[in-house]
Amino acid sequence: MSRLLILGCGGVASVAVHKCCQNSEVFTEIMIASRTVSKCEALKAQLEGKTKTKISTAQVDADNADEVAALIERYQPDAVLNLALPYQDLTVMDACLKTKVSYIDTANYEPEDTDDPAWRAVYEKRCKEEGFTAYFDYSWQWAYHEKFKKAGIMALLGTGFDPGVTSVFAAYALKHYFDEIHTIDILDCNGGDHGYPFATNFNPEINLREVSANGSYWENGHWVETKPMEIKREYNFPEVGEKDMYLLHHEEIESLAKNIPGVKRIRFFMTFGQSYLTHMKCLENVGMLSTTPINYNGQEIVPIQFLKALLPDPASLGPRTVGKTNIGCIFTGVKDGKEKAIYIYNVCDHQECYKEVGSQAVSYTTGVPAMIGAMMVVTEQWKGCGVFNVEEFDPDPYMEALNRWGLPWVVCENPQIVE
Ligand code: NDP
Repeated sequence: MSRLLILGCGGVASVAVHKCCQNSEVFTEIMIASRTVSKCEALKAQLEGKTKTKISTAQVDADNADEVAALIERYQPDAVLNLALPYQDLTVMDACLKTKVSYIDTANYEPEDTDDPAWRAVYEKRCKEEGFTAYFDYSWQWAYHEKFKKAGIMALLGTGFDPGVTSVFAAYALKHYFDEIHTIDILDCNGGDHGYPFATNFNPEINLREVSANGSYWENGHWVETKPMEIKREYNFPEVGEKDMYLLHHEEIESLAKNIPGVKRIRFFMTFGQSYLTHMKCLENVGMLSTTPINYNGQEIVPIQFLKALLPDPASLGPRTVGKTNIGCIFTGVKDGKEKAIYIYNVCDHQECYKEVGSQAVSYTTGVPAMIGAMMVVTEQWKGCGVFNVEEFDPDPYMEALNRWGLPWVVCENPQIVE
């Protein structure tokens, strides 16, 4: 029996809400809240009468910590599941601290305005000290550890698929298959086709910022940075086939480097088709990916936000996307003195997801683990005071829940290795 406040009603939140409603024994009550309450109500209307979970809705601006805290005081949830944007992570964590309620999210903090001088000063220092230039990193949220510990509450960071399931796969591999893990390759393949020349599968602003940035990987205790899309490999993905994939910076590399003892190299690869890359390069070259506002006919416009308004809404891709995703990790290391490699992955079918919850697989593979992470917290299967990443807990109950709630996984003990 628990009461969960869910912030956001977009692609990922929609799946998480559907999954909480399937899991009414744990989530007896949920509240969906965002700036546009009509969207939250539309989501509620899809589920009412089909679930035992009692759903309510509210209007809230999660950029305002006091507003979120006031909503928490009113609703009295057991935890807050933040499925708004990474821009809101810190204000929501502040609200959770103020009200002493646990916090869960799927993406680490990133500022909306990367030209803000105060943020920029910290960012530039971090680039020099750490050696990677991504706008997002865990330092901002890890800095809340002592405050959360003192308040006796928990923050669970990054319980989507990647980060999230991929990090739990790492903890599971370490617990059951290795004495020491030496390399981790995280492979994110979307073999789906939505039929548009160009669209993003989740929030376009967040997605395009991520893939147009420099790549980087962790090797022998430090970061190695690459130009965007500089490292390309081909991989034959089970149930999807041969795809081109490119090395990106990704947030779980940072936490796995800290939490998997003895790891020597961690890389992240994502598949992209040629059409996607050509469109992105062109949009970047003409300035459409910029986050710096420009003045157009007396009105201030942020180019990437305007682009978002032109692109298909990721939520509308569900009915037209066919094919499968395959996301997983290849681990190498030693067990009982012998070298070995395993590949743990999940395959998800876009149309199956759409039939079940009305969303494509990219939202599904994030929304299901978001519900599972929230379940780990509210049922206290994962317990602690402070700020934690998912790989810091026992992976077994989470792995069991993945099988039960729609993301079954496979362990392959003789995988193709990425050179
Ligand atoms: P969407 O853009 O579809 O939805 C974002 C939601 O946030 C909207 O419902 C919006 O509602 C709400 N929102 C935005 N600003 C505010 C605000 N100030 N206050 C309250 N609500 C707000 O995004 P997605 O569903 O695609 O992604 C959600 C999160 O999941 C993102 O953080 C994304 O980075 C993360 N993600 C993580 C993945 C992983 O594997 N770990 C993979 C994919 C996504 P409204 O406009 O009504 O306020």
